[in-house]
Amino acid sequence: MIEPSKLVTAIASTLALSASVSVLASDQQEFNSMQMQGVEQIHVDVDLEGATQRLSQAVQFPTISNQDRSDFDEQAFKNYHAFIESSYPLVHKHLKREEVGDPRPFSLIYTWEGKNPDLAPAVFMAHQDVVPIAEESRDQWLEEPFAGTIKDGYIWGRGVLDDKNQIHAILEATEMKLAQGFQPERTILFVFGHDEEVGGPEGAKHAADILEQRYDEIAFVIDESAPLVPGIFPGIRENTALIGIAQKGFISLEIAINGIGGHSSQPPEETNIVALAKAVEQVEAAQFPYKIHDAVRYQYRYMGPELPEDQQPMYKAVAYGDNDTVTDLEQKFIEVMSQNQVTRAMLHTTTAVTMFNAGIKDNVLPPAATAVVNFRPMPGDTPEVIIEHVKNAINDDRITVRDISASTPATNVADPAGEGFSILEKSIRQTWGNDLIVSPFFVIGGSDSKHFQARDFAPDVYTITGIQLENVKEFEGFHGVNERILVEEYGRSIGFFYTLIDNLENL
Ligand SMILES: [Zn+2]
Repeated sequence: MIEPSKLVTAIASTLALSASVSVLASDQQEFNSMQMQGVEQIHVDVDLEGATQRLSQAVQFPTISNQDRSDFDEQAFKNYHAFIESSYPLVHKHLKREEVGDPRPFSLIYTWEGKNPDLAPAVFMAHQDVVPIAEESRDQWLEEPFAGTIKDGYIWGRGVLDDKNQIHAILEATEMKLAQGFQPERTILFVFGHDEEVGGPEGAKHAADILEQRYDEIAFVIDESAPLVPGIFPGIRENTALIGIAQKGFISLEIAINGIGGHSSQPPEETNIVALAKAVEQVEAAQFPYKIHDAVRYQYRYMGPELPEDQQPMYKAVAYGDNDTVTDLEQKFIEVMSQNQVTRAMLHTTTAVTMFNAGIKDNVLPPAATAVVNFRPMPGDTPEVIIEHVKNAINDDRITVRDISASTPATNVADPAGEGFSILEKSIRQTWGNDLIVSPFFVIGGSDSKHFQARDFAPDVYTITGIQLENVKEFEGFHGVNERILVEEYGRSIGFFYTLIDNLENL
């Protein structure tokens, strides 16, 4: 998962900022709650003792994704795979298992054949890799990050929240279903990537290539995103379950100058470093325009009616506005959102200058200088559009621009009014009860499922991490220190996937 705490902060601050704007309540007709009513909470009996042991063992395999891709522990993945095979015998008896990935085949696809081959499959995603432990934070861990300690009602370790918990909750639920002789109506696929934390170019992307060849359509995808956290939304007391329905894209451009170097005793009027610095400055100054993404509109359709009434006209204008005109209230919303760097990211393709390299010695004029700018595109801002935009901003023939990333476009938007969303909402309410708000939202980062959602064969991707955290502090475990999961909560997560498998029968 990519910076989950920031992603939720984005939504939280959106609401906080919006709430501070006072708008006259002039237009107060229908803006009714979209929350599903009358769902009964159910309890699923799981082998919590055994499941806890297995998750504890799972985190002991250091399946780390380092930024330096040559630093890769193949053996850790191989051992982890062997452990998964021995832990879930029924899964491995009844499902087809494939190792995929290009060039490294450490991602896993499982195929649980459905009774009706005419139905489009559902996909459950999770990732095997974890982020490294930052050296400077090691001594802040209360338990060893790769020991899988079970203590004080928690399972501790890197990956218990992000995201081995989901791999194992899915496998535990499936093992239970298989023991009961269950076979799903539609085929269910599991895709467990091995490089999500570095964007998934080897694993999930390759899996999407394979499945796109195999199936015309995928009916439903679930992948990780934000967990449920109580009190994360200012103005909303209840617990909130956010379901990501769209993800931004990713592209990095190298901006370079290759000229003549020389001796620093006789410099030209403009050195290469200054020429490149000016170019980079122009790129940063040429910000992409703001617009309200459809996923943001959907978010306010669900969240708006739950917020105080005197603030609702603006939310309503955003929720039901169209993309051809910008009303005064929408303009107000944009102004408020753009004042904060986190919420601003939801409004446009972001431009971030991330690297700048030139020079090796104090008395040498370098012949070349390079910079890297990272963009997170909104829909429509393709690599071609962005490169053109950058070249126009720079307007200097000496400067070259090239795409150096395995770029991914902004994704499609999953349908929040569709059956997939309501099946997910129902499963959430059956698991965690009705004392919560369920809402779609726009993911400004992205996870492995973006490789599916960006393609037209699988637009209906819903992202949520199926755990409820006790409080915002526990969020720090994601990519940070003291990652831990409540044993009880892990049991509920298994129950959630078990319930979801049942509910998918009605999709
Ligand atoms: Zn993750």
